[in-house]
Amino acid sequence: MPIVESVQWTFDSLAADDNGNGAGSELRHLAEYLANKQFDLVINPPMSGGGARRVSCFMTHGYRTRRLAVDYSIPLVTDVKCAKLLVAAMQRIGGAPPMKTHIDCMSSRLMVKLPGFIDVHVHLREPGAPHKETFATGTAAALAGGITMVLAMPNTQPAIVDRGAFQQALEIAQKGARCDYALYVGASSTNFGTVHELASQAAGLKLYLNETFTTLRLPGISEWQAHLSNWPKRAPLCVHAERQTMAAVLLLASLTDRPIHVCHVARKEEILLIKAAKERGLKVTCEVCPHHLFLSTADLDRIGAGRGEVRPVLCSPEDQQALWDNLDVVDVFATDHAPHSREEKESDHPPPGFPGLETILPLLLTAVTEGRLTMDELVNKFHTNPRRIFNLPEQPNTYVEIDLSEEWIIPDRPQHSKAHWTPFAGMRVKGCVHRVVLRGETAYVDGLVLVNPGYGQNVREWHGGKPPLVGAASIERIDVLNNSIGSGSGVGLRTTDLEPDLQTNEAFFQLLSPDGTNAHVKQLGVHFAGEQVALRPASPLPPRMRCDSTGNQSVIGKLEPLTIQTGGLRERQLAGRHVLTVDMFTKEHLNEIFHLAQTMKTRVAKDRLLDDLLRGKVMASIFYEASTRTSCSFAAAMQRLGGRVVHVDETSSSAKKGETLEDSIQVIAGYADVVVLRHPLPGAVTRAAQHCRKPLINAGDGVGEHPTQALLDIFTIREEIGKVNGLTITMVGDLKHGRTVHSLARLLTMYSVNLRYVCPPGLEMPAHIREYVDKKGISQRQFDSLEAAIVDTDVLYMTRIQRERFESEQEYEKCCGQLILTPQIMTMAKRRMIVMHPLPRVFEISVEIDSDPRAAYFRQAEYGMYVRMALLAMVLGRS
Ligand SMILES: [Zn+2]
Repeated sequence: MPIVESVQWTFDSLAADDNGNGAGSELRHLAEYLANKQFDLVINPPMSGGGARRVSCFMTHGYRTRRLAVDYSIPLVTDVKCAKLLVAAMQRIGGAPPMKTHIDCMSSRLMVKLPGFIDVHVHLREPGAPHKETFATGTAAALAGGITMVLAMPNTQPAIVDRGAFQQALEIAQKGARCDYALYVGASSTNFGTVHELASQAAGLKLYLNETFTTLRLPGISEWQAHLSNWPKRAPLCVHAERQTMAAVLLLASLTDRPIHVCHVARKEEILLIKAAKERGLKVTCEVCPHHLFLSTADLDRIGAGRGEVRPVLCSPEDQQALWDNLDVVDVFATDHAPHSREEKESDHPPPGFPGLETILPLLLTAVTEGRLTMDELVNKFHTNPRRIFNLPEQPNTYVEIDLSEEWIIPDRPQHSKAHWTPFAGMRVKGCVHRVVLRGETAYVDGLVLVNPGYGQNVREWHGGKPPLVGAASIERIDVLNNSIGSGSGVGLRTTDLEPDLQTNEAFFQLLSPDGTNAHVKQLGVHFAGEQVALRPASPLPPRMRCDSTGNQSVIGKLEPLTIQTGGLRERQLAGRHVLTVDMFTKEHLNEIFHLAQTMKTRVAKDRLLDDLLRGKVMASIFYEASTRTSCSFAAAMQRLGGRVVHVDETSSSAKKGETLEDSIQVIAGYADVVVLRHPLPGAVTRAAQHCRKPLINAGDGVGEHPTQALLDIFTIREEIGKVNGLTITMVGDLKHGRTVHSLARLLTMYSVNLRYVCPPGLEMPAHIREYVDKKGISQRQFDSLEAAIVDTDVLYMTRIQRERFESEQEYEKCCGQLILTPQIMTMAKRRMIVMHPLPRVFEISVEIDSDPRAAYFRQAEYGMYVRMALLAMVLGRS
């Protein structure tokens, strides 16, 4: 009886821990599962509408998933109808396999996984006004809105202006909060000498400089000044400051050289002022609220004057437009969730304030769908930047699943907040929160809040920026067989094909960052990190990610950099390492190299410049043995990535003057960032590497190794045939001396292939290679003639009979000529096979074959450049 297991690997990439797991984890986990044959079948339909044929789709998770399935020889279903039939059939034969048909068989939803969102501006009304809101209800509303962390404002009753009130509020929050939180302290006209003692425990300091719903308004500029000077510069400081007041406080902050965060910017004049301040290098960040983005005075009739009261007030459509026009100036989206009861809002003296927690995300997602906002911007301004500006720790295993296809109308009375009304009622939105996972617990799913008051934690109490452990099980990174999680990987969630170019972006994001680690990642998760980190205005944003067709597609690309490179990649990738032999590569390395090579290829094909990657880097190319092709390929690769090349060949080398290889390498390594070395003696490159303090790439050492050739050969097979596993690969020519076939045969043992050899007598594959291949359980067979071997061959790997390796011209003449690939022989070959050759050829392949589509050798040479680009970027990218 078949067993259908739910394995939620798709969504595990956000569950990073500090050991760097989570580093590209989902695919790694998938690879582990596949490698261990824990899957018997993979179902992964590509995006509909011929998406699979779009070049960009080669970079999706879906593509990589299918790619991995093929690489690991796991049966793969890619057609959604077949998958449904299969599920139906399994149900019939097996009775009732344990699966949840509404999830396992769902196929039309567009689900994406986003990080838990962070609202830095909420009013939860406790202590003092629990009829308006409580921590329990307000944080329930937050979870329903996809928000997993809130920073609560201090204008409560009593206001949080001293240790006593702070302590009281903390106790209430601790009992009531369902999502994570931190609490602000308020600036009063008298507490500037003491409030800073709470800086490390508070979300930040809030200064009210204009009239609003508070008793905390600071009367005069001298109090502002005192607070700006006394509050620690590395601790967040927020101001409610409108119009002229904003200008004044910006000036004061500038004079005291401290960063400030301006709450709820609402007007054109304000956003332009902040823009100008940023351009002048002032340390200012700002937030905008959904009601100023999505509502204006034009909506007041519908909302009603009393309910429409809010501070800052709703502004003109022109102001509203100015916010959208200057979105790049906006660092943060925050709700300013400020609930009052319906009765209060409808009274003669309506207090100002709108609820917003349950509606902000659908509104923003709708803007993404409409193309007014990119998903990257949304994630940046509602997760990444808040974390950076407010020094908030990462919430482990925390994410939000969004159904992007769900269209709905915001109801008059959202479910969770005590406000029981919303100014956005009646608005049509697209996108809803399906599930919220907070620190490993499903906190919300489809309208239901599943965590109790008290589950939320004060993130300022997390030691070392980490939450206390709460039972390993709940922090499990893979929820294998977790029924509450259900299945999403196969037929269900279609996330995997949503994001063209994402892996690309992930890879480039890592590589483009100046010190190899991701600059903004480094800033995260650091409690009160270095001053310049906390102070730097969060906009403009890091390099913009490309968004194809719809804005929401690149979201994962943005997310992954957050979690991916915390160290794990350093080992998995090749930064700073010598590349001497194919033995150093794991299957994972290969996948990463090929993936990056494919990215390079796509970028080059699209005429996109890559010359930022290695700009300023120098590659020394040292060839003690002539090889125009390999050296050109490396040089072109380096130059396409913006690096420069210093070439040293045997005629110019000091070897002529008797300098040892070791000395030459030491000297040249001092000039360059990476060294590419070819040498006629086997082992010479390895010896040289011991004296080379820069990454050294073996470009061939005599009859020894030629690792980059083997890589490009396998890359060629993958690109040309689509897979490597299951293929019959026939190597022809001088197998005794040909280092390319030696490296290739060894590297191919990582796949499940059949090897065949055809060679003149005396030029057989050396025993040590044959033994190596045997030990790996790969079948290999010697054939007497090309004709006999070619029939079942998928990859015919021709090599040159190497004249220079023969002792006499006579012996050479005797050998060659026996193994020439002619059009006649090609008639016996499969229709879908390829002919490869490391080049240069002499006459072992007739030129007539060049026009045969199966002749892959010139394309192979081009693939070589992409592989070398990938390799150079990887060894240099993080050094
Ligand atoms: Zn507020």
